[in-house]
Amino acid sequence: MAWFDNLKTPKIKAKGQVKESKVPEGMWLKCPECSEILQKTNLANHLFICPACQHHLRMGALERIESLVDSGTFIEKDADLASLDPLQFKDLKNYSERLEKAQERTGIRDGLLYGEAKLEGIPIAIAAFEFKFMGGSMGVVVGEKIARTFELALKKKIPAIVVSASGGARMQEGILSLMQMAKTTSLITEMNQKGIPYISVLSDPTTGGVAASFAMLGDIILAEPKALVGFAGPRVIQQTIRQELPEGFQRAEFLLEHGFLDQIVHRQDLKATIGCLLGHLVGASTGSPATRAKKEPPSRKSPPSKKKTSKRNTASGQRRVPLVSSKRR
Ligand SMILES: [Zn+2]
Repeated sequence: MAWFDNLKTPKIKAKGQVKESKVPEGMWLKCPECSEILQKTNLANHLFICPACQHHLRMGALERIESLVDSGTFIEKDADLASLDPLQFKDLKNYSERLEKAQERTGIRDGLLYGEAKLEGIPIAIAAFEFKFMGGSMGVVVGEKIARTFELALKKKIPAIVVSASGGARMQEGILSLMQMAKTTSLITEMNQKGIPYISVLSDPTTGGVAASFAMLGDIILAEPKALVGFAGPRVIQQTIRQELPEGFQRAEFLLEHGFLDQIVHRQDLKATIGCLLGHLVGASTGSPATRAKKEPPSRKSPPSKKKTSKRNTASGQRRVPLVSSKRR
């Protein structure tokens, strides 16, 4: 924070005295794109978008969900699920210690929130990653909660929306974290068969095992401007293939150009865009009057057509979760 200390150093003398700065620490941050100094409280009111350059900064899971759903409709589920450190993993620190610290810092039990809500009046199952919780990494609990988001959508026959921000699988849970890729993916197949829409929203960054599983399997895949999306990082790829990578490689704009995304949406338009898409998707399957006459969001592309079936069954039977605890704090 050397730059901040410089800012705090009083440089103007008034009436022969040096004035002390009254700005409390931790109130400001620097835009990583344009270096503008931003006030944190202001940022929260503007969806964490830099007013100077429109750069989309990272957003917490709860802020993200609240920015998308109708006010007061979000009901969180399984907030108490926590990892049991099944491998008793230790690197520089014990994994259990890392978990505790992350829980203290973020106030949540693991790196994802999910639940039920309404978006422009349409009931949805929604999940969002908390990047501040160990880089939004996907371990057993995150994978389980994603799976339960899809199961909720299947059971209630409502669309699922997942907003990803993740560095990938959680290495402290080894193969168990990689298994989450298969678990979540198999439920998407079931949703496909039963005609339940799934919209995936990729925010910065969506990488590793998350990008390599459910995040890239949405019926519609939206991304935020300049979001990093890919499996391995650009530096690793460059070192492996020993070739210069094209400009903007692995950024949302590059992926859109190469057909991996359906649309890049400014954060301010995200709710309206998803609402509009849901209106088409849900309206197409149920003809519900609640979904008609949605406002067209700016620069929207036509959503891909989806086959819908009217007979749908509820989700598969009970899931056993031997690797997570659900004790309350
Ligand atoms: Zn900026």
